[in-house]
Amino acid sequence: MHQYSGVLKINLSALRRNWRVVRDRFRGQYCGAVVKANAYGLGVAPVVQALYSEGCRHFFVATFDEAIQVRRLVPESVDIFVLQGVYPGMEQRFCDEDLVPVIYSGNMLRHWLSASVTGRRRCALKVNTGMNRLGLNLGEFGEVLQAKDSWPEDVHVELVMSHLACADEPAHKLNATQLTLFRQAADLTRQHFPNALTSLSASAGVFLGDDWHFDLARPGIALYGGCGAPGLQGLLSAVVTLELPVLQTRYLRAGESVGYGGDFVATQDTRALVVSGGYADGILRSLAPRMAAWRGQRLPILGRVAMDSCVFDASHLAPDDFPREGDLIEVIGAHLALDEVAGAAGTISYELLTRLGERLSKMYFEEAEPPSQDGPLP
Ligand SMILES: *Cc1c(COP(=O)(O)O)cnc(C)c1O
Repeated sequence: MHQYSGVLKINLSALRRNWRVVRDRFRGQYCGAVVKANAYGLGVAPVVQALYSEGCRHFFVATFDEAIQVRRLVPESVDIFVLQGVYPGMEQRFCDEDLVPVIYSGNMLRHWLSASVTGRRRCALKVNTGMNRLGLNLGEFGEVLQAKDSWPEDVHVELVMSHLACADEPAHKLNATQLTLFRQAADLTRQHFPNALTSLSASAGVFLGDDWHFDLARPGIALYGGCGAPGLQGLLSAVVTLELPVLQTRYLRAGESVGYGGDFVATQDTRALVVSGGYADGILRSLAPRMAAWRGQRLPILGRVAMDSCVFDASHLAPDDFPREGDLIEVIGAHLALDEVAGAAGTISYELLTRLGERLSKMYFEEAEPPSQDGPLP
């Protein structure tokens, strides 16, 4: 180590295990993986390689650039779906790289069909069943299928998909509505594109029940250990540990304050730990006045989270239990579950993970504990 920085420890064995949990629950043909946004902030290369070695052959990303990253990591036989479709003029690049754009509008489809390209035009179609973000409405989808005999011969529809809006609330009535509509889309798909796969469920959808499964699952957050959905509780392993190094111990007298705005004022003598890691690293300001953990004991945040640092109250620790400079304080991990921390910050695990900053050093490990970085300075 040449500097103090927060450490993001990523347990690839837990990632693999979570993928197998979803795959084993899934009754359809294939379990894919969503690795958009740098695999939810965890690093797309190690994540894709680990999942590929488990047998995952269908990867979903948001953009072309993300798709190229994945393409360089896996053999050509792997399917890479680009959820935000194809930008006009990029059609040939998609064919060259064998990427599958998820086409979500009539306009995008017209561009795709009229582009003069060489190579196979593999694509997915997205149907809107109630999320009302991207997707062809069912009527439009039907019209598209009627016209398909006039399509160029090199166009191949590989997948028809839709996305659930409320899968993390099993009792929500939109789940049944979306299922009914997607069943119609799936019936049309079987008539017109007998070889195309169908896909409705992300992480939470897989745990709604077999009816929501169809051919291909698209889990994201469950792989990374977040479990918004009730059906997932207790099934998943924690993948991420975030630890921040202590930079300095500070003794505050009663009446002294800490940090910007002087928000926290000590009412008694206080031992505070100044720690490397702030909102530029993804330690959300809304986390204050929440906790970190040190050897299983809770350390409340004092005052505001700053860009590069935050401060914790360690007054209650026994002197021989006290962290030294360079020791790592846990912010997410065994004692502070990802979903719990996200909830405490007023957000969701997805946002917490994808905000983790570039400055954190990432450590990947399989099963065995990562080498400890604890201990005093040399
Ligand atoms: C992000 C995304 C997913 C993955 O969702 P999770 O809740 O993380 O499992 C699946 N499908 C689409 C269309 C997405 O945008």
